Amino acid sequence: MKIILSGPPGSGKGTQADLLVTKYNFIHFSTGDVFREEIAKKTPIGITVESYVKDGRLVPDEITLEITKNFLIKNKNQNIIFDGFPRTLPQAQGLDKILLELNDCIDYIIFIDLPDNEIVERLTARRTCPNCGAIYNLNFSPPKIPDICDNCGTRLIQRPDDTEEIIRKRLLVYRNQTLELKTYYENSDRMYVIDGSLGRDRVHQEIIKILGLA
Ligand code: ADP
Ligand code: ZN
Repeated sequence: MKIILSGPPGSGKGTQADLLVTKYNFIHFSTGDVFREEIAKKTPIGITVESYVKDGRLVPDEITLEITKNFLIKNKNQNIIFDGFPRTLPQAQGLDKILLELNDCIDYIIFIDLPDNEIVERLTARRTCPNCGAIYNLNFSPPKIPDICDNCGTRLIQRPDDTEEIIRKRLLVYRNQTLELKTYYENSDRMYVIDGSLGRDRVHQEIIKILGLA
């Protein structure tokens, strides 16, 4: 099974993907996570994409599609959750083309919606673990010990692009470039929209209902 989780930054895509990975047999493919890892490791791709990610702009489609293609070739016939990809129309079309070549397709597209004011509130309170990738929110799901990851004990960080200024920019990018994906997928009966303000557990329940896993 292949699922796309889409929606504005901070809508909970990564959190929901993690829940599905923990409970079911999915591989989580987050282009944002891949880029952050490449940047941390200072690889050629990391050096190229660093300024885009820092500024909240989209990484060029060719680079994004290239890493996706390599990933999909390595992970044929796996259950995959796409988180934060595709984000542009050419990425969506490119993904369909790659999957067609691999004799595969997307089964479900789930948009998690959230109003702008809630997005800014959530993202400025978001903390992540640089070691294991766990995501916390200081208001809804704080770590047991302040600033320390429950899973691995590492000191939590705030993502450098989670400042109010860059969040506003990412929202603009989402509205201008990613929202048109809704139109692209709307005509298929595979697209669903969930209200992200329902909170983590109820959104998870909605997703597993859609996937027929409930
Ligand atoms: P969020 O959804 O909270 O904005 P992500 O981790 O998905 O966070 O993305 C962080 C940044 O990584 C984006 O602002 C962008 O610069 C880059 N990025 C991630 N996915 C893509 C993509 N599919 N296409 C282009 N750039 C991307
Ligand atoms: Zn951790």
